[in-house]
This record gives sequence, structure tokens and C-alpha cells, in this order.
Amino acid sequence: MHFSFTGKTALVTGSSKGIGRAVAIELARGGANVTVNYSSSKADAEDVAAEIEKVGGKALVVGCDVSDQAAVEDMVAQTVAKFGGLDIFVSNAVYSDRQLMIDADMKGFRRTVDVSMWGAFYGLRASSQQMVKQGRGGAITVISSPHAVIPFPTAMAYNMCKAAIDHMARTAAIELVKHDIRVNVFHPGWIDTPGERKFFSEDQLIEGGKSMPLGRLGTPEEMAFGIAFTLSNEGSYMTGSTMTMDGGVQLPWWSKRTEGGQ
Ligand code: NAP
Repeated sequence: MHFSFTGKTALVTGSSKGIGRAVAIELARGGANVTVNYSSSKADAEDVAAEIEKVGGKALVVGCDVSDQAAVEDMVAQTVAKFGGLDIFVSNAVYSDRQLMIDADMKGFRRTVDVSMWGAFYGLRASSQQMVKQGRGGAITVISSPHAVIPFPTAMAYNMCKAAIDHMARTAAIELVKHDIRVNVFHPGWIDTPGERKFFSEDQLIEGGKSMPLGRLGTPEEMAFGIAFTLSNEGSYMTGSTMTMDGGVQLPWWSKRTEGGQ
């Protein structure tokens, strides 16, 4: 089963890989035209576009660094020029350096904020400006993280950005409700993506997965299904909400699973 997005146009930032890739393909399966965005992985983005065409969808590939506000505005304009409008926006692109706060290289810290916080804002603003102008409503989902709430050591900049974009999305939800534009937040758990493979070895990912309450890492496709729900007509009564699909990682006493639940 796939949610229907027939006649809609979507833009997914950072959709050359990982969760963004799976979201772009899932929306296309439901009938959406999709703008696939990358910053450096052009071949991967073209591969996503080919997958979209295989499932009967139409894709536009746009290289754009989301930390560049003018470039993000231009990406929205290119989407509108190609497909005639914009109905769905997914803020997904991320950059994160992992260093203890006391040692952090300020260039990496600032780059994390520029891409993961300002990038989300630029996309949210440009896409909602277009949706307001069109006057036919819309749906926006901001991909955040449980680390918006639970601090992960060595990732202060990332944690801060995720907390900021959660509140950014909720503020946008209340400002845009009169335009029938829904804005929600999505928190994935620990998902096996190229981004995670930069930080963890295969063995660490397998062991990490076993330590989850559900006994494994999540997949980008599982996340895409949840994210698609937030954007679908079936999710029409949801705005300013946070949907979590995290394998139970935030359950209290979750390590008890390996001890027979005692
Ligand atoms: P990923 O595998 O690292 O992929 C990141 C994507 O973002 C790539 O397509 C990358 O494209 C793009 N990107 C990076 N910098 C960009 C920039 N400046 N402008 C435009 N695109 C840029 O990431 P992921 O693990 O799928 O994560 C996706 C989202 O889920 C993120 O918001 C992340 O915080 C969130 N999340 C992930 C997990 C997890 O365990 N994976 C957990 C919680 C939350 P290029 O290669 O072309 O740069």
C-alpha cells in the first residue's frame, strides 16, 4: 500500500542518499513529481531520478547547497518552472561533525548549523512562500531527530540544530495553518544510511542494532513510509506534531530486553 500523491509536486532536500532518497522514491510511487536535491553526489541523485522514472514518476535533479539561501529559493523556482507548482516540501539534508564541544573545530560546528539549521529554515521559508502564493494548501515535514530532546555526546551542534528546527516547524505550523499548509516534524531512530556508515563500522552497526528494543536498526524505507503518511491526505488532521519511528530507543529501561524484560 502506498499513499496517493497524484497530481502533487514534492521537493526533498538531501535526497541523493539515505532517508531522503527513500522518501523521494516513496512519494513518486504515490504519483508525485519529485525534485531530487543533492550537494555533492550528482551520480547518486541521478540514480534516484532513474528509480523515480522506473516507478512511473517524473523527477528533476537539482544540485544545491541548502546553506545557500538564494540557491534554495532558485531550487524552488526551478521546481515550479518544471512542474507548475509545489505542494510538498521535506527538509531532510544534514551535515554533522562529531567532536566533543570543548575540542570542536569551529568551522565544522558552524557548517553543521549552516546546513542543518539554516538550510532547514531556508527551505521551509521558500517552500511555504510558494505554497501561500499558490493558495491551494500544502504539506511540509521537517526531518529532525530524537537528539533534539536527548543530547548525544560529540554532537552538540547537531543536537542544537535539531532542537531549533523542531520549534521552527511548530512555529511555522501555527503561522501557516490559515493557509491550509500543514507542518510536522519526524524523528527517525537509528537508521542504516550512508551518513551513519561514515561514523560507524559494519560491526558497530550490527551490535548497535542488537541493542535496540526492536533488535535492529531501522531502514530508510520504513522511515519513508512514516514520512509519507505525514504528507498524505490520510494525515490531514496532523499539524505541529512530531511523529517518531525509533525502534523503541526512547523507551525507559529498554536495555532490559536482553534480560527477558525483567
Ligand atoms: P545521509 O545518509 O548522510 O544523507 C544526507 C543527504 O543530505 C545526502 O543526500 C546529502 O547529499 C545531502 N546533503 C548533505 N549536505 C547537504 C547540503 N549542504 N545541501 C543539500 N544536501 C545536502 O543522511 P541520513 O542518515 O539519511 O539522514 C537524513 C535525515 O534524517 C537527516 O536530517 C538526519 O539528521 C535525520 N536522522 C537520521 C538518523 C539516522 O540514524 N540515519 C537518525 C535520526 C535523524 P550529498 O551527498 O550530495 O551531499
